Amino acid sequence: MRPHATVPLFDAHCHLQEVMSGGEEELDARVCEIRRQGCGGCVVNGTGPEDWGHVASLARFSRAHGGMFRPAFGLHPWQVSGGTPLEGWVERLRALLEEFPEAAIGEAGLDKAHILRHRIQHGEDAARAVFHSGGGDGVSRLLGREREVLAEQLRLARELGRVVVLHCVRAFGTLETLLRELPPPRGFLLHGYSGSPEQARGFARMGGWFSFGPRNLSATAGHAEFSPKTAAVLRAIPVGRVLLETDFPSGRAAFPASLPELLAGHAHELRRVHEAAARHFGLSLPVLGARIHENHRELWEGMRRLGAGSSDQPPEPEAVQ
Ligand SMILES: [Zn+2]
Repeated sequence: MRPHATVPLFDAHCHLQEVMSGGEEELDARVCEIRRQGCGGCVVNGTGPEDWGHVASLARFSRAHGGMFRPAFGLHPWQVSGGTPLEGWVERLRALLEEFPEAAIGEAGLDKAHILRHRIQHGEDAARAVFHSGGGDGVSRLLGREREVLAEQLRLARELGRVVVLHCVRAFGTLETLLRELPPPRGFLLHGYSGSPEQARGFARMGGWFSFGPRNLSATAGHAEFSPKTAAVLRAIPVGRVLLETDFPSGRAAFPASLPELLAGHAHELRRVHEAAARHFGLSLPVLGARIHENHRELWEGMRRLGAGSSDQPPEPEAVQ
């Protein structure tokens, strides 16, 4: 299969550590395949002590082979409400962040919907009743625990000067309050953003970046197109704060047997979100791809310091080109 794009496309949020393993030779072949498919780089997110080692292996390989994977290490909210033993996690996380100065903190965050789903799966009928109201004492307690774990990671971000990659579902008010208390000085990335345009404006003023992925696409359009809700968010934030992602392979029910097919699936999804963004902004795919790459550099390598306190003014609208 020939590469599809004339410019490399960048994936702001994925979990390729779940499908990438093996020795140096194997990894080398896989990275060549990812490049051949048109991807120029990925942010690979760890979700807890169980996969941090895989992310670290990819990051070490990447350093020695011209880059492809930027690591992020964090404790995902699903790990918090899932009851996994987490003894000593802060110390392990700190050690990894010290070993990888290029690493972000993430995937971290808050997920009220997951708490409710988890309780329903464990036979708590009462949780069904509160699912749509989003309330209940047990939910508040678990959300409080997620909040504590996230606060710990925000403190590390402040101490070590790192970007924070955030997962947030149905808890944007709580997240906003916490970010005001502990603003990450290098900014934060809200991945797969599902909040409102008004909340997005507020987060952008606080140093927020946004990435949009397959879940932000319209389920009804035959071609790649953002949902009306996501399109409204994109109109509310500066184009310079927009990134694109696959979250691959998270949430996919079935995988093809061969790794090349699997990586082709990743490339296909990455291209589709870029096509949707190109359509939204009225740009060709190469121009859009170059713009998104520039945004990546700005977030990860730029010297500009972002964060609360730097500006309470709405961001200047930015021209697309
Ligand atoms: Zn993710």
